[in-house]
Amino acid sequence: MIAKSPDGWLEQKKRRLLAKIEKDGIPAKILARMSDVPREMFVPSSLTHASWDDTALPIDAGQSISQPTVVAWMTTLLQPDARMRVLEIGTGCGYQTAILAKLFRRVYTIERHRVLFEQASKRFAELRLRNVTAKRGDGALGWRENLPFPRIIVTAAAPHLLKAWVQQLAPDGILIAPLPDAQGALRITRVSLHNGHLKSEAFMPVRFVPLISPTFEKNP
Ligand code: SAH
Repeated sequence: MIAKSPDGWLEQKKRRLLAKIEKDGIPAKILARMSDVPREMFVPSSLTHASWDDTALPIDAGQSISQPTVVAWMTTLLQPDARMRVLEIGTGCGYQTAILAKLFRRVYTIERHRVLFEQASKRFAELRLRNVTAKRGDGALGWRENLPFPRIIVTAAAPHLLKAWVQQLAPDGILIAPLPDAQGALRITRVSLHNGHLKSEAFMPVRFVPLISPTFEKNP
């Protein structure tokens, strides 16, 4: 039965989505944090009804909020640790950031569009996520302060793994990004650094908005 109030109806959608993600094998610790973050706060108000659908949705500046299943898998592959700092490239609406904030000691996040940076910062304040440091800038350059990062998550599609990110990754660090595989198909990829060697593993195929940066031509 669908509850009468819009809140009850959304709550049902949320429960159904979290149950589906649980069946996919996402750990309870990550599911609980996804349940804590009100996804409806991160979508345009005209799309509140769809906020707990398992789809990406359009946001301002022609960008999108990631699909919950993709957020769940990227977060799981990142192996969150409450003692660690994490760098996120591509804040967007800030949904993934808010989940990371509940699983890491501190989140550093970078967004290229001013309007999205401002909207996301407002949400972080409303949700009292005091362990998020957000800035506007080019994430292709990484962060450059507070180096190195034991975890890096990239939530826009880069043409390839960028040097700056690898240089900013701590020993035994993990980087999760949508990257093209050998056939050119974009897939969630885990890059791990061990004894100075990079290991790359490709997982689910995905679609992401592109990472846009003037540095690609200068610094491939
Ligand atoms: N993490 C978001 C998804 C963000 S969509 C979520 O939880 O839904 C990807 C974002 O990356 C967009 O907002 C886009 O503006 C941003 N982006 C693209 N190129 C960038 C760059 N070079 N530096 C920082 N952000 C960038």
